[in-house]
Amino acid sequence: MAELRNVFSWSFSAAEDFEACRRRRYWSKYGMWGGWDRRATPEQKAAYRLNKMDNRWGLMGQAAENAIMWVLRECQQGRSATAEQAWDAVARPFLTRKWAESLEERWRTDPKRFCCIREHYYKTLANENEAKRQVAGQVRNCIENFIAKVLPRIGSVQPGQELPIATADTPGDVEHFLYEGVKIYAIPDYAYRIGDRIHIHDWKAGKVKAVQHRLQLSLYALWALLKHGARPENIFLYVEYLNEGQVMPFQVSVEELGETRAIIGESVGEMTEYLVDFDRERNAPLPKEEWDLALDPASCAQCNFYELCKPELEAQT
Ligand code: SF4
Repeated sequence: MAELRNVFSWSFSAAEDFEACRRRRYWSKYGMWGGWDRRATPEQKAAYRLNKMDNRWGLMGQAAENAIMWVLRECQQGRSATAEQAWDAVARPFLTRKWAESLEERWRTDPKRFCCIREHYYKTLANENEAKRQVAGQVRNCIENFIAKVLPRIGSVQPGQELPIATADTPGDVEHFLYEGVKIYAIPDYAYRIGDRIHIHDWKAGKVKAVQHRLQLSLYALWALLKHGARPENIFLYVEYLNEGQVMPFQVSVEELGETRAIIGESVGEMTEYLVDFDRERNAPLPKEEWDLALDPASCAQCNFYELCKPELEAQT
């Protein structure tokens, strides 16, 4: 099998990581590379394992998303489903399995396959049962709101109208497009075409972050434009705040798409400065020490890679 190559890439979350902490981007893109190989160094192995780590809010979002897509598929088959049924059939088994994998530390043998929850790993949960209740309550609420407020709008969409979106669960690379020679990862949650119009929905099970989410979806508009040939006026975007039962529908103008392109260009440029000879094709990182630690210690409290940075962080204090 040909050796995997670490290709320079950009995504909205990569840019967020890079902005929050340069070192975090180093760990998640370069430090972890090859960490799956038994010949890897202990640091590479640790970075790879920590990069795979989940957290309870991430799992909550995945559980809600899996459950609402199940409800939608049922609807497309002409069957109605209640929130309770979706919870029992999809969300609860998913959460139970992930929670058990984490508590049993099955990820020690295979961090790619088995879940490790950050709160378990770093022992930050004050009350395990309360945390589980909180996650379950929010997932159920998201499913109920989806059935009451989103399904009436999208329940008539047929699978043949949906745009294929490659995810980590489908074979091959996840959804991406090329922009000025750079591989851009963009994975909308749900997209479909009606006539010339493309509709893109993103499920948010957590808090409302209007500015951040608008930018994220404007990237999806660029995906629709460059990958599917949609015209800007035919792209309709919806941030679905499932826990609140609200939707933020909008379209992006040509000017706003230009701003999104400029943000990508600027971010790609800054990331390139951390590469040897500014060479994105080679994509060799500068030494780890060049990737600064976070200025704000609050970032570290929520970071998967804390274990790796701890000695340096402690030496600074
Ligand atoms: S622990 Fe802190 S310094 Fe280290 S990668 Fe995370 S945020 Fe950055």
